[in-house]
Amino acid sequence: MSSVIYRVSDLVYAYGNGPRVLDVPGLEIERETITGLIGPNGSGKTTFLKLLAFVQKPVQGEVRFKDRPAVPFAEHARFGVTFLPQTPYLLKRSVYKNIAYGLKVRGVTNDLDRRVEGALALVGLSAELFRSRHPEALSGGQAQRVALAARLALEPEVLLLDEPTANVDAESAHLIKEAVLAARQERGTTVLVASHDLQWMYEVADRLLQMYKGGIWEAGNTNVVLGPWRPGSDGRWEKHLSDGGRIRVPRPPFPDASAVIEFSLSRPENGEAGANILLGTVSRLILEQKREAVAVTLAAGHLTLTVRVSCREVESRGLLPGRQVLLCYDPDAVVFM
Ligand code: ADP
Repeated sequence: MSSVIYRVSDLVYAYGNGPRVLDVPGLEIERETITGLIGPNGSGKTTFLKLLAFVQKPVQGEVRFKDRPAVPFAEHARFGVTFLPQTPYLLKRSVYKNIAYGLKVRGVTNDLDRRVEGALALVGLSAELFRSRHPEALSGGQAQRVALAARLALEPEVLLLDEPTANVDAESAHLIKEAVLAARQERGTTVLVASHDLQWMYEVADRLLQMYKGGIWEAGNTNVVLGPWRPGSDGRWEKHLSDGGRIRVPRPPFPDASAVIEFSLSRPENGEAGANILLGTVSRLILEQKREAVAVTLAAGHLTLTVRVSCREVESRGLLPGRQVLLCYDPDAVVFM
């Protein structure tokens, strides 16, 4: 059995006759991993999850699931994948019936009590207290956990979650995190989750994918710098920062194009702020527990940039909020979107 559960190639999606909202040349997702999708509103996270859930059919390209091409209603994918939308719908019936419903649809009739109770326990809800409750007697966080329990009861191979913590309290966000980690640990569930809650994501995801305008790439040191760009010297175009710094790029396709730029911390011996080197001030350090990396957020003029370094590098460079560092980039490696 291959360790890759999804293999995506040349995937394109557009709604109706509208513009492309997703364009993924190639991507693989390993089994039993937790992948986080981050990116601004409208970057394509939900659309991508729906294509992986086989709810929507791509305009072009394919999604292979377990080494075979899959489309909506494909036999080998239909029951293996379950999707929790951002605002899940609960039936106007008891919590028990809500969770048992999906099992019955799949023809599971025995062992219902055990599976429903097990799923409730995974999301931190007592079966005794909650099994007879109706949705109107649940808080937003409890309703979201019931909706998650209904998916977990199906014991899917893949769980796709769209903003599972968007409308829940801190306690529920914590319990949803524990449930996701337990599903992977105890059942080998592969999880893909879109979230704006970066701190939550850093505690859950083994891998982070950044999305922007339908494109997708590994979240590392890549930053999106918005235009406008102005013509500068020696054929380069420039963005002027509020602190006098400049980012130099090749000629953009149009002045307002967004530039995708890799930044890294520069060694002091590489020189001073100037051509291809910016001055940044560390504003925040976040430990990405699962990835054993530290996300360093920096202010460079009015821009906010993120680079990732090892814990050892944080120590050896004495990175602390307020510290100034130099950031370098290669203008010839800039990509426009
Ligand atoms: P995200 O989840 O990152 O916010 P979405 O996948 O929801 O992004 O949206 C990606 C793009 O597709 C956006 O430009 C959005 O306006 C557009 N879009 C999403 N759903 C529809 C729809 N049903 N019809 C038309 N356009 C849509």
